[in-house]
Amino acid sequence: MTTDTEFIPGAYAPATAEPLDKIEPTPVAEIADIVERAAKAQPDWAAKTLKERQKLLNEAAQRVLERAEEIADIVSMETGKSVNEVLLNEVAGIGEYAKVAAKEARQVLKPSKVSISSVAYPGKRAVVEAVPRGVVGIIAPWNYPLSIFFKPLFPALLSGNAVVLKPSEYTPRTGQWLADRFGEVIGEDLVGVVQGGGDVGAAFVESGIDAVTFTGSVPTGKKVAARAAELLIPASVELGGKDAAIVLADCDMERTLAGIAQWSLHNCGQNCGAIERVYVEEDIADEFVRRLGALAEHIRVHPTGDHCEIGPLQNPEQRAIVEDHVQQAIEEGATLVAGGEPCGDGLGYRPTVLDHCTEDMKVMSEETFGPVIAVARVADVDEAVRRANDSPYGLNGSVWTTDIRRGEGIARRLDVGIALVNNHAIPGSMANIPWTGTKDTGTGIAASRYSYPTFVRRRTLFVDKSKKPDPWWFPFDENSRELANSLIDFSRGSLMAGLGMAGVARRRVDAIRKWVGSTKSSE
Ligand code: NAD
Repeated sequence: MTTDTEFIPGAYAPATAEPLDKIEPTPVAEIADIVERAAKAQPDWAAKTLKERQKLLNEAAQRVLERAEEIADIVSMETGKSVNEVLLNEVAGIGEYAKVAAKEARQVLKPSKVSISSVAYPGKRAVVEAVPRGVVGIIAPWNYPLSIFFKPLFPALLSGNAVVLKPSEYTPRTGQWLADRFGEVIGEDLVGVVQGGGDVGAAFVESGIDAVTFTGSVPTGKKVAARAAELLIPASVELGGKDAAIVLADCDMERTLAGIAQWSLHNCGQNCGAIERVYVEEDIADEFVRRLGALAEHIRVHPTGDHCEIGPLQNPEQRAIVEDHVQQAIEEGATLVAGGEPCGDGLGYRPTVLDHCTEDMKVMSEETFGPVIAVARVADVDEAVRRANDSPYGLNGSVWTTDIRRGEGIARRLDVGIALVNNHAIPGSMANIPWTGTKDTGTGIAASRYSYPTFVRRRTLFVDKSKKPDPWWFPFDENSRELANSLIDFSRGSLMAGLGMAGVARRRVDAIRKWVGSTKSSE
């Protein structure tokens, strides 16, 4: 990218540096109308059965698949990833995702009967139901501009909500395209879109939405969560990461190398769940680093050939962060093993491996979000775990070893939402596994049945078929105290008190009936 090119988010092709047509932001004054239209369409959608909603959403997913090449071209243009990469990582899975998401929905949306003691509470029954929130706002980042929507989109719609999508200002066309495909099948007002940057996002949170899911950076996520708390709407925030992998001396070297290269560099490292730090046991470190560097050198950056593994960085700010982190690490004493420089006409950056990294380097402590693998050599597992946990983030953490049982024990010591053995971040593409973290990664749970508190509130339906008044109702008399004492004794474990309660309860019911009966002649 030439320095004199004006960069307008969303109006620049990261792989080729060509300008794109600018997409106009939604005027702030119109956001509430879009939410209002979604709110009006929502009750009819909620009135459908889950089966009907599920069928329509499967159909919408099929529409996406029918036009896979078209959306892959759009995502590729907006992000710079190759069409291959987009098809594999963002498009191909949507059909299966829809099916698995529906299975989760069936579990979590079914009414649950409450068990109530017929002795203590005769004639009473209760059921807890799931009620859609209304309109769910979905605020998304640019790194997976299509598939990042799947996690909230399916559960929100399966629950009977309408949704309004807020794509990143860097990737506006992809979000609009997705909303159009879903809108064609289920009705366009049910899948609204607002376009623009932070001002639009902030106004969107205020616009009358009933819940919000936010995926993006820590500073913005904190703002969204704080404002949502004031508005008393649920917010699920999924924020940054600085994932660590621990490579043990007994790992399967070749699979581990392939796995680490994949999960560090995939999506050009612009993945909240990318491995950004590798703690490798000293015994195998020389071989591991040498071979990882060689793999990094082989990875092609789009558009340098037909089968490029990764794209460029998506925007110049992101490339500036990557350059700064790499340069600072080298100045602080890291060894550059591979990469370390820009490439191509656009925002490409060569896959980079740094060895001998320490915690005072930004590549080890701050989110880099680029194709950079920072390696630190460790004496043993305890050192690896301590250093892996020494991070403000906690999304994924992985342990690479052939001793699976030991690996599980080590993985459980990692302060993360997703702890893995011999893989990394793969649950992010599965609709039935919670995608969640700790610390600055945020409190959100995306995907799976565990994500539903954002999408539904619980309503208790309580029904009393008893013809008698409850014995603790007004008016109080000497039997009220006896009833209270019996209840206390029963709560303390006395079965005799429980048996004795029937008599006093009967006396209380008689007294209440008499009291109420006396009002017959009150005129
Ligand atoms: P960002 O926070 O800059 O923007 C995210 C979205 O928020 C965009 O749509 C943006 O327009 C909107 N926004 C900006 N200001 C807002 C405000 N005040 N109120 C409401 N919305 C506002 O993040 P980004 O740069 O687009 O994305 C990169 C970040 O996302 C990285 O930190 C990455 O780790 C994180 N991320 C996290 C996950 C996860 O699941 N944990 C997944 C993908 C990306």
